[in-house]
Amino acid sequence: MANYIVAIIGRPNVGKSTLFNRIIGQRDAIVDETPGVTRDRHYAETEWTGKTFTLVDTGGFIPKATDIIEQAIREHAQIALEEANSIIFLCDAKEGVTHLDLEIAQILRKSNKNIHLVVNKVDSDGAEPQTAPFYQLGIGEPISLSALVGRKIGDFLDLITEKVPKREIAEKDERLRLAVVGKPNVGKSSFVNALLGYNRTIVTAIPGTTRDPIDSLLKYYGEEILLIDTAGLRRRSKIKESIEFYSTLRTIKSIERCNVALLLIDAKQGMDKQDLHIVEKIADRKRGMIICVNKWDLIEKDEHTAKVFENSLKALLRLYDYAPVIFMSALTKQRIFKVIELAKEVFQQQQHRVSTSKLNNTLLEIIKRNPPSSPSGKEIKIKHVIQVKTNPPVFSFFANEPKLIQQNYIRFLENKIRENFGYVGIPLTLNFKRK
Ligand code: GDP
Ligand code: GDP
Repeated sequence: MANYIVAIIGRPNVGKSTLFNRIIGQRDAIVDETPGVTRDRHYAETEWTGKTFTLVDTGGFIPKATDIIEQAIREHAQIALEEANSIIFLCDAKEGVTHLDLEIAQILRKSNKNIHLVVNKVDSDGAEPQTAPFYQLGIGEPISLSALVGRKIGDFLDLITEKVPKREIAEKDERLRLAVVGKPNVGKSSFVNALLGYNRTIVTAIPGTTRDPIDSLLKYYGEEILLIDTAGLRRRSKIKESIEFYSTLRTIKSIERCNVALLLIDAKQGMDKQDLHIVEKIADRKRGMIICVNKWDLIEKDEHTAKVFENSLKALLRLYDYAPVIFMSALTKQRIFKVIELAKEVFQQQQHRVSTSKLNNTLLEIIKRNPPSSPSGKEIKIKHVIQVKTNPPVFSFFANEPKLIQQNYIRFLENKIRENFGYVGIPLTLNFKRK
């Protein structure tokens, strides 16, 4: 899993986003059939020679107010040092070494993290001598390249992926691992505190593989539930963008480690693009998902309010409208344990397997009544279906013309599987094969 995070840091205009796009474009294709709602430009999972990592462009988190830019960049370097596994410190060959480069280098030098000093805009062999001054930063040999023209990118990717593990062995933890995610100030730490406080739970520090993320243990009727990375829920900073950057890194890592993610949103604010990015990330990783509308105590309600609210969320969620919505308040503790009950249900359903006979009896009947149509008018016959996998569930459909089956029909089948067999909050994968 791409728990390995590589962050690109550096001054504005050194070419961070150009390099980001170059690397994303250069990757081996990742097979993913889910059409995205909105692709995030600040981070992406990417792959190079079988090694998967998450690349983060910190330039996406640089504030517009010029008086705080330098401070923000220093904070980004600090956050990246704490949270990322590897850092690309990008400099600009044309500009040379600047005072801010020296300051960033000073922050980075103190750590023993994997730091790659990269000198960008070395567009040709003739420009190579421009790399030499960067030795003075004192963080090793500078790597020269050109993000714009794509010069020496392959060698560079070989180098930065050297320490990325090939494939981490799946955790053998049978417990429900819950990630509480969401934008800053939606009430994540209040929620976790309400859960833990109410239960007088033992809070245990479980050192993680990366930088000791601290999980908490919730004892729920004798069952152990892990709340992932509850220590890292909050970072104080005056700079909004730094908090966002920090929260993004934390979110990525928590989602990777969970089996069910609780996305908290603020009832007063509803759901926006940033929330949808998180939704997409959870769905991409095929984790279970529950939308928790927090601060429900602040909403004036009548008997229709919840339904109307839920419908508006579902409209925004579109492909991801399988996620159940629950209204809660961390402040008054309304439904906080309903959320846990629901998460347990989602967790159980992840392991659920429908027998082949049940699946075929139900679905083939439905397919017969509503057969797929193809644009060319060619008859498509679906003959057989099996659930090939649980956690996450994968279904294979066998047909004469699997390639002709259209997206809206796949949606239709997915809905029918859900109607008949549940899978609340769980992303389903449907494959179509020739038989
Ligand atoms: P960021 O602010 O660090 O994300 O920088 P950008 O990626 O937006 O790039 C800033 C400017 O530098 C843009 O005009 C890019 O086209 C240019 N640039 C980026 N990489 C290179 C490069 O390798 N060579 C040259 N000559 N220009 C580059
Ligand atoms: P985090 O950044 O997501 O961890 O958010 P916090 O838990 O720190 O909460 C941000 C603010 O929202 C704090 O002032 C909380 O007291 C407040 N808050 C959190 N949950 C609720 C809630 O359910 N209702 C109300 N009214 N306020 C809440």
